[in-house]
Amino acid sequence: MTYKSVKGTKDLLPKDTAAWLHVERVIREVMDAYRYGEIRTPAFEDTAVFARGIGEETDIVGKEMYTFTDKGGSSLTLRPEMTAPVIRAFIQHSMGEQTSINKLYYIGPMFRQERPQAGRFRQFHQFGFECIGQQSPVCDAEIIMMAAEIYRRLGIRFTLKINSVGDPTCRPQYRAALQEFLRDVHDDLSPESQRRAETNPMRVLDSKDPRDRELTAGAPEILDYLSDECRDHFHATLALLDAMGIAYEVDPRLVRGLDYYTMTAFEFVSADLGSQDALGGGGRYDGLVSQLGGKDTPAVGFAAGLERLLMVMDKNGYTFPEQSPRVYLVGMDENSRAWAFQQAVSLRRSGVSVELDYAERSVKAQMREANRLGARYVVLAGEAEMQTSTAQVKDMQEGTQESVEFERLAEYFIQVPQSSDTMENS
Ligand code: AMP
Repeated sequence: MTYKSVKGTKDLLPKDTAAWLHVERVIREVMDAYRYGEIRTPAFEDTAVFARGIGEETDIVGKEMYTFTDKGGSSLTLRPEMTAPVIRAFIQHSMGEQTSINKLYYIGPMFRQERPQAGRFRQFHQFGFECIGQQSPVCDAEIIMMAAEIYRRLGIRFTLKINSVGDPTCRPQYRAALQEFLRDVHDDLSPESQRRAETNPMRVLDSKDPRDRELTAGAPEILDYLSDECRDHFHATLALLDAMGIAYEVDPRLVRGLDYYTMTAFEFVSADLGSQDALGGGGRYDGLVSQLGGKDTPAVGFAAGLERLLMVMDKNGYTFPEQSPRVYLVGMDENSRAWAFQQAVSLRRSGVSVELDYAERSVKAQMREANRLGARYVVLAGEAEMQTSTAQVKDMQEGTQESVEFERLAEYFIQVPQSSDTMENS
């Protein structure tokens, strides 16, 4: 009997995690620059956090959650997304009372029981950020800028689609107008859209069914129904993006079909992905904190998939910094092997990445291995070198060789320029 990872999940091996770590590092650099702090919440929550936080109506809550009853009889759910847990933690720790703005980010695994396909997994990873406490369009624009900056640094081209979904003062009028429009085409809509026309008509505009899209082509548009406040907020957000040179497409069909979403809704899509082309999306959710039992608090956020981002980078042929060892220490005889082991420990203590032989292979085989691993330097110390406490250091890139005293080795490898070791993306 052999075992395999569960359908829709993936092992990330060292050859994969090198790219992941690089991407995570870039995300953290951008987060530091914008002064967002990392939040880590548990992988599972009370089911109610999601049922109430995401909404019973959604596909996620309706059919995709990994929900189970634990031995104590509690209904728990593996997190399918992070906004609801972040807001749960925000309320639980009274974070809104300590400061008027909380800027939080996360990176971690999410779980949804979706049908696996290219770009869609059952355990996948998201990074995201939430700006909680202010309604200023500066927050909306900043969230979008951060996402764009991460994609820019990773060489990912994207299309940004943006819309405003109004707020509880203006959306009911739009909803009524849309429902009236949908009544005329109702019988020809897909069964899913027929159902949504009653429960959540804005989601009908989201339908991927070509016939639905045709039928709703002339549907009323939310932008014609926005209150003055929502319109001003939308235009102010767009003006900030214009000022920063961020291109966008206003897409009046882009809706986030939940009641707590307000004003800004946006999505980043990539032409380098197949049918699952959404890189990430977000929006303002001024109603969520109170919905989860906290004080009325405005907030805006973004969430994106890491697998899809890496798929695009892979397709673009992005070159990740190499993971080669800097130094390979060759053991030549028993004495030299013992020395190599000690020297390796000492160099590693100084922060130099060192590889050595574990299999008592011949010098020739070790040289071959050093080459295969792409080590920049090979260090050899045989009997004669032991006598003089001096090693032979071969620069594999330059093809040169020089003698370096044992005690100067650490200093030597730290001093020699590192830049040519890694391939940079221009
Ligand atoms: P959502 O929370 O559904 O808006 O998803 C945000 C982003 O997470 C999407 O744009 C995708 O990039 C990613 N994502 C969502 N679901 C999956 C999944 N099942 N597998 C891989 N990535 C996903």
